[in-house]
Amino acid sequence: MAALVCRGAGDLRVEERPTPTPGPGEVVVRVEACGICGTDLRIASGSHRAYPEGTVRVPGHEIAGTVAAAGDGAGIAAGTPVFVAPNVGCGSCRQCRQGRVNLCRTPSALGITLDGGFSTHVLVPAAAVRQGNVMALERPLDAAAVSVVEPLACVLRGQTQCGIGRDDVVLIVGAGPIGLLHLLAARVREPGAVVVSEPSAARRAQAAEWGADRTVDPSSEDLAAVLGADGADVIIVAAPAAAAQAEALRLAATGARINFFGGLPSGSSEVALDTNLIHYRELVVTGTTANTNADCRAALDLVTSGAVDAGRLVTGRRPLAEAGAAFDAARSGEALKVVIVP
Ligand SMILES: [Zn+2]
Ligand SMILES: [Zn+2]
Repeated sequence: MAALVCRGAGDLRVEERPTPTPGPGEVVVRVEACGICGTDLRIASGSHRAYPEGTVRVPGHEIAGTVAAAGDGAGIAAGTPVFVAPNVGCGSCRQCRQGRVNLCRTPSALGITLDGGFSTHVLVPAAAVRQGNVMALERPLDAAAVSVVEPLACVLRGQTQCGIGRDDVVLIVGAGPIGLLHLLAARVREPGAVVVSEPSAARRAQAAEWGADRTVDPSSEDLAAVLGADGADVIIVAAPAAAAQAEALRLAATGARINFFGGLPSGSSEVALDTNLIHYRELVVTGTTANTNADCRAALDLVTSGAVDAGRLVTGRRPLAEAGAAFDAARSGEALKVVIVP
């Protein structure tokens, strides 16, 4: 099989490897689409901590495809179209026992600590198969759209913490690919309004087209004035900006829920927050990272039902041989989601 192997910073190459055969309980998936995300860009640049120097591994954790072969007891038939959730976990630490596999103390994940989906085939370990990482599709779907289930699951994990209701004014800060996914997911809850704050005119236009009730240019408009005295009931900060986190508290309505969705660059994550706003307005400030199988299942249901048109995010499809150009496109910031189609 052909696989895109990361051999160090800036060193990604397509290599020929033996196609895996599944042992008992294991599944081999023929990959039809695997999305490139920010994590992969960090892996490619050598700044991801799961890929220390000397690591030789196939990245790719947004995986959709078809079961090519299944080992004894795997419980899924060859030919089944599937989404593969990436996070496996150890299964025994407290976080795993609580169902927070995304916070496992010794995490294992496809494309992160295990060979992933930038490859014609990927081996899913028995532990992952047992805990339901291989999710059969209920109907045929575009594999590239199915690969977007993974980032959508991260988005849902953040929104679940915020409990979006029908009367809520939702503010999404940032209209990059993740901000747009937040917009699509928030609209499913039919809130009173979704406001998107984004300095780029092109991205604001896109957010308006995708259903934002109001877009705001924070560099020239007063977001607080737009939201009015009541503020926003749910605020999702989907931009790696310390100032946006601090401002979120000031823009929050009484009883608002806030999710710091994006991490800040390490070394600049200490932010001065007015904690009296949290106290007197009874704000709930949350953070979420990655996703669990339950988040992936919920995201897959939204994509299967058509409630979220995940395919809208896919702006490029490239074969493995053009992975370099695909990574460049993903890095440029102009593409929304570039998907490798092995
Ligand atoms: Zn991702
Ligand atoms: Zn664990």
